[in-house]
Amino acid sequence: NGQAPAELLSANNITALFDSVDAFLFDCDGVIWKGDKLIDGVRQTLDVLRSKGKKLIFVTNNSRRSRRQYAHKFHSLGVSVSEDEIFSSSFAAAMYLKVNNFPQENKVYVIGGEGILEELRQAGYTGLGGPEDGEKRVQLKSNCLFEHDKNVGAVVVGLDPHINYYKLQYGTLCIRENPGCLFIATNRDAVGHLTDLQEWPDLPWIIGAGCMVAAMCASTEKEPIVVGKPSTFMMEILSKKFQIASSRMCMVGDRLDTDILFGQNAGCKTLLVLSGVTTQSTLQDPSNNIQPDYYTNQVSDILELLGQ
Ligand code: PLP
Ligand code: CA
Repeated sequence: NGQAPAELLSANNITALFDSVDAFLFDCDGVIWKGDKLIDGVRQTLDVLRSKGKKLIFVTNNSRRSRRQYAHKFHSLGVSVSEDEIFSSSFAAAMYLKVNNFPQENKVYVIGGEGILEELRQAGYTGLGGPEDGEKRVQLKSNCLFEHDKNVGAVVVGLDPHINYYKLQYGTLCIRENPGCLFIATNRDAVGHLTDLQEWPDLPWIIGAGCMVAAMCASTEKEPIVVGKPSTFMMEILSKKFQIASSRMCMVGDRLDTDILFGQNAGCKTLLVLSGVTTQSTLQDPSNNIQPDYYTNQVSDILELLGQ
């Protein structure tokens, strides 16, 4: 499709990249950590980038945690990152409501986890559903009533390991019965890595929020507003917050159709790392039409190439 093939990051081109940006945006899973394990050399690399005056920002599509919970995870891995440097799709969902002046008196129905509910609370909104509805059932009997709160003005869908017929029925009723009700998806990733789902320690990957969003698309016959990558919504809020132009940022990610596309859609420089879901052969396959500016094995190569 005319995109130039990605250049291998090298001692020859790294200075040009480094000098052309003021901030590095890091995807988390597959870049910073894999599940609950920090990837080798990440801590030192982030320290050096900070010491050279670069702003570091972390952008994750995983909605299971709030920013507070992610800051805690970074801390427990020995990496010092503050809450306001973290942009999770759970936070993005709450911010989407805020920037669109969603009324505080309206409620939000959540098919997803505690991370989304916490971000909604932080933004001053009342969330319904989530873990609380995990055990509920729809009584499929004649003359049974299915009550839903008529004040729900938005349905947010993210990864929900306890998704069920009740939640799908509830969320769908809110959307189908109220034409003004917003349908927001945190992200549409097909699969992700094990993070805090330690009850299934043998799985190489877990299914992501994409199939839950797809279920709601089928029942509502509507398409959602997606706030996670590759949508550039998070870029709008973070570039305003830090007053850095997206052209002065480099997006570092392991997924072509979320991270690299996000960076390209937003006008950033892009760097693919091969420490996550994308292999070099996928990158170079003729059927792949998303080419980052640069690629390298892992984040710590930056250190080595900078001669640190
Ligand atoms: N969604 C879920 C449920 C995940 O488990 C993951 C990765 O662990 C992701 C999304 C992708 O997260 P990231 O954007 O940090 O790669
Ligand atoms: Ca990733």
